[in-house]
Amino acid sequence: MRVTATNDASVRTWAAPGRVNLIGEHLDYNGGPALPFAIDRTTRLKARPRTDGRVRVWSSIAEGSVEFGVDTEPGQVEGWAAYVAGVVWAYARDGHALPGYDLVLDSDVPLGAGLSSSAAVECVVALAVRDLQGLDLGAAQVARLAQTAENDYVGAPTGSMDQLASACSEDGHALLVETRTEPPTLTSVPADWAADGLAVVVVDTRAEHSHATGEYATRRSECEQVAEIIGVEQLALAPPDAVLKVEDPVLKARLRHVMTETTRTRAAVRALRERQWEHLGTLLTASHVSLRDDYQVSCMELDVAVDTALGAGALGARMTGGGFGGSAIALVARDGVDRVVSAVESAFAGARLTAPRTFVVTPGPGAHEVRG
Ligand code: ADP
Ligand code: MG
Repeated sequence: MRVTATNDASVRTWAAPGRVNLIGEHLDYNGGPALPFAIDRTTRLKARPRTDGRVRVWSSIAEGSVEFGVDTEPGQVEGWAAYVAGVVWAYARDGHALPGYDLVLDSDVPLGAGLSSSAAVECVVALAVRDLQGLDLGAAQVARLAQTAENDYVGAPTGSMDQLASACSEDGHALLVETRTEPPTLTSVPADWAADGLAVVVVDTRAEHSHATGEYATRRSECEQVAEIIGVEQLALAPPDAVLKVEDPVLKARLRHVMTETTRTRAAVRALRERQWEHLGTLLTASHVSLRDDYQVSCMELDVAVDTALGAGALGARMTGGGFGGSAIALVARDGVDRVVSAVESAFAGARLTAPRTFVVTPGPGAHEVRG
């Protein structure tokens, strides 16, 4: 049974976007800033309440449905439905008694491409539960429940950026997420490069390296080690001379990335506000170099995408998201998009890589109910 009947008044629809991180990578667990924006690709959810304490969920990415109770615990639901069960569990853990739901997911956010399809699923479910239960929670609290699902139910030790971007973004804006404070401080920054004839192109490299999760956890623990050596709680708050206190060359490089990326992100906010697109492009490219050389989370496919886009005239380009595969972004003059796309496609073909997916993204709204 699919919940597709449009005449069923108890069925409501929500949408939550994927995100691109413009700049500020691997800083959300270091007390630094990130500057993501919600993209115009969303995960949509049709939902209606049940009364038997059961949740049944369908997704266009999978055959059949998955069913579980509202008293689900981590480990009980695995695979794609864990992202849904995790949200139900997070609500229950906060003391909310949920009645059960029928849920149907559909999405045009590419999966596993570093555009946070996982946060889109979690946020759309978290928002629907909030609205169906009439709970008085703000968008940032919805994001927090979604992050709890990802961290403590699915078991992915990610920071807060993805869910905040999906839940709290404003249409036409990037979202400056300052993780120095708890909860993070959010500021919308107008992101209207399109008005000046520019576009952001995503290159989904389709590369997914199996060690990505392990390396992510390693970077987090390396950052914790450095923070201990220099005696700060959050690495992004390290004083300028902190690099002198770290002897290990690898740890020193990790710190250098966190410090320089923090500075670049603050500069990017100014560039965005002042529409200094060339400068923004330079910052994006410098971010990529830092992630490649100091933080060492890039990979060959991402480097090919970035180098080729720059060679074909992009103002700037960088990997976006956690790295080791996923997507790169390029800031490109609108009339140069085709040139950049075909250069990237030829470079991938020439290197015998899987053909990348390329598309333009624009800053869209955060999670919301779809009416009418
Ligand atoms: P990313 O968030 O970068 O897309 P992740 O590995 O964090 O990559 O999350 C991808 C996973 O999220 C998918 O493998 C799937 O389990 C789940 N997921 C994402 N979108 C959907 C969807 N529309 N329906 C069901 N599960 C989804
Ligand atoms: Mg994800």
